[in-house]
Amino acid sequence: CPFYKKIPGTKFAIDAFHYGEIQGIAAYFLTHFHSDHYGGLTKKSTLPIYCNRITGNLVKSKLRVAEQYVHVLPMNTRVTVEGIEVVLLEANHCPGAAMLLFFLPDGQTVLHTGDFRADPSMETCPELLGCRVQTLYLDTTYCSPEYAFPTQQEVINFAANTAFELVTLNPRTLVVCGSYSVGKEKVFLALAEVLGSKVCLSRDKYNTMCCLESEQVRQSITTDWKAARVHVLPMMHLSFKKLQDYLARFSARYDQLVAFKPTGWTFSQQPQISGSISIYGIPYSEHSSFLEMKRFVQWLRPLKIIPTVNNGS
Ligand SMILES: [Zn+2]
Repeated sequence: CPFYKKIPGTKFAIDAFHYGEIQGIAAYFLTHFHSDHYGGLTKKSTLPIYCNRITGNLVKSKLRVAEQYVHVLPMNTRVTVEGIEVVLLEANHCPGAAMLLFFLPDGQTVLHTGDFRADPSMETCPELLGCRVQTLYLDTTYCSPEYAFPTQQEVINFAANTAFELVTLNPRTLVVCGSYSVGKEKVFLALAEVLGSKVCLSRDKYNTMCCLESEQVRQSITTDWKAARVHVLPMMHLSFKKLQDYLARFSARYDQLVAFKPTGWTFSQQPQISGSISIYGIPYSEHSSFLEMKRFVQWLRPLKIIPTVNNGS
């Protein structure tokens, strides 16, 4: 197990399920339900997993891990795990994503961001204001100055306005949004809202969304492909060939298709167009931009930073 997945002075491992049982580890934290973090977990797993309720729902429902191994911790509340105080904080990443703040017996305070998108609102978090973090395990996904992108709200507004314009010009327009797993729900929810439509998802994706315990999500989704103008498809289906075939299946209602691909980072907001298909890559990020990360670190002033991404050794 790589060193940066263990917290020295504790029996804790973070997002480290690829390595089976790790010597000296008694609690396996899961920061959020993305496969590069839960990878290795299966229904046969008997490791003691610690996570919040939404991530716990997903682990039990999608991976079929037995209930007895999933220890659900509250958000924003100090709890004791294996004799050490820990508090889970909102990470502003995907639903259920948490940062972990550990108060070690020797007085050291350690913050593990999991995956996060730093936001100025974190600077008013009472738990972070009330302590001095020595060691920061940091999501360094976009840790280089060229990674600049708009706020999520700006990207959502762009997608919603674009979809609204196209549907107004041609009411026979089908709107598609790409999706990987958990996360980026705000994009398709905003498309549905501006178009006064529900969002149609596969049965599997529908079940995933039901784990998020969001009334807004639950009321917006359906599995009836004919009952919604906004369709969510796996990201790998967002090619011209596949979308042309997809549009043909709904030719009674639609003769044009616009697809939004919420990727982390793109150069341009110009669509790629082929015939009646338009594909927009939109820079909707659930990781910090370089400047957001810089501001957070300068505010937190840790003594030591350990990158958790692109960290080989
Ligand atoms: Zn993630």
